[in-house]
Amino acid sequence: SGSLSVAELAEKLKKDTSEIIKKLMSLGVMATKNEELEKTSIELIANDYGVTVEEEEIVDQLDIELYEDPDDDPDKLEERAPVVTIMGHVDHGKTTLLDGIRKTKVTDTEAGGITQHIGAYQVEENGKKVTFLDTPGHAAFTTMRARGAQATDITILVVAADDGVMPQTVEALNHAKAAEVPIIVAVNKMDKENANPDRVMQELTEYQLVPEAWGGETIFVNVSAVKGDGIDELLEMILLVAEVEELKANPAKRAQGTVVEAELDKGRGPVATLLVQGGTMNVGDPVVVGNTYGRVRAMTNEVGRRVKNAGPSTPVEITGLNGVPEAGDQFLVFADEKKAKQIGEGRANRAKEAERKQTSRVSLDDLFHQI
Ligand code: GDP
Ligand code: MG
Repeated sequence: SGSLSVAELAEKLKKDTSEIIKKLMSLGVMATKNEELEKTSIELIANDYGVTVEEEEIVDQLDIELYEDPDDDPDKLEERAPVVTIMGHVDHGKTTLLDGIRKTKVTDTEAGGITQHIGAYQVEENGKKVTFLDTPGHAAFTTMRARGAQATDITILVVAADDGVMPQTVEALNHAKAAEVPIIVAVNKMDKENANPDRVMQELTEYQLVPEAWGGETIFVNVSAVKGDGIDELLEMILLVAEVEELKANPAKRAQGTVVEAELDKGRGPVATLLVQGGTMNVGDPVVVGNTYGRVRAMTNEVGRRVKNAGPSTPVEITGLNGVPEAGDQFLVFADEKKAKQIGEGRANRAKEAERKQTSRVSLDDLFHQI
């Protein structure tokens, strides 16, 4: 049966039984420790803690470990494309490299060959897909990480061959190491006369990024982002690392993933680029995204073409949300719209409450400061 006693509910929620009893009292429900609770009471309490009750199980819907979903039966796991971010010092060629890969490799040009900037795109190399997150600077990586989202499988560290390792190069490699994300070094601007790839290798060795040629394990690829040289090799190396990482996901469940970017569009309302990480997203799906919710009205890919569904590692732009989520927010598709609405509104209210508490605390601090 799906019923729970007060004590059992407390245990599932990792709260004190007395706290649950108090909360129930505030809801007008008088219950003792061993009393069986009605479903509605369980739901009310659980929702109050940001947890939703589903299929007689209590699942913390939006804090699920993306890669360790207990639903993911090993038999249902399928290979998925690696998700790649590009990092490096300013002016070392991150944007040029991303644009170069996009221009030469985005295959789906049926929409007139015009690639859109939706913050992420997918390319194909030797019949295999690679997903690039294309948000400016380190944002893709750092904001998402700061918000607890792990969306990157592999990072490309771009280092200009005429400039060498610079402060943001070190910052970037430290971020990647902290997140345990494999690094491939792209030594860029090889077309320049003063390009010195040996110096880059030498300098990176000090940060334990030792090239394979020198007995280490780090892959270095020489590229020229402006000329497009080395892009194929870089993609092949990405696929090689992806194979070692054995990246897998279950496409046969409700979609979950991370917001890459979002904005309010004058005509279309809230528009969000989502990276599907598990499951498959379909047009019409009810979804909770961060502190907002909605129903997927339209989905488009990186060339602006309408798609009906999107599986693991696929970036899509969606409309149909009631608000604008933030980069790094997680999303989860629900079985029905009512539930999505209930959870979305609950989360929005809690966020508002948290913000209110934050501001009142700040003003109190300010007050003490003045005294
Ligand atoms: P970001 O700040 O890392 O995004 O760097 P950008 O992509 O904006 O590039 C900075 C400058 O370096 C621009 O003027 C680019 O044209 C130039 N650049 C980028 N890649 C190359 C390259 O492979 N060769 C040469 N010669 N210049 C490049
Ligand atoms: Mg740039």
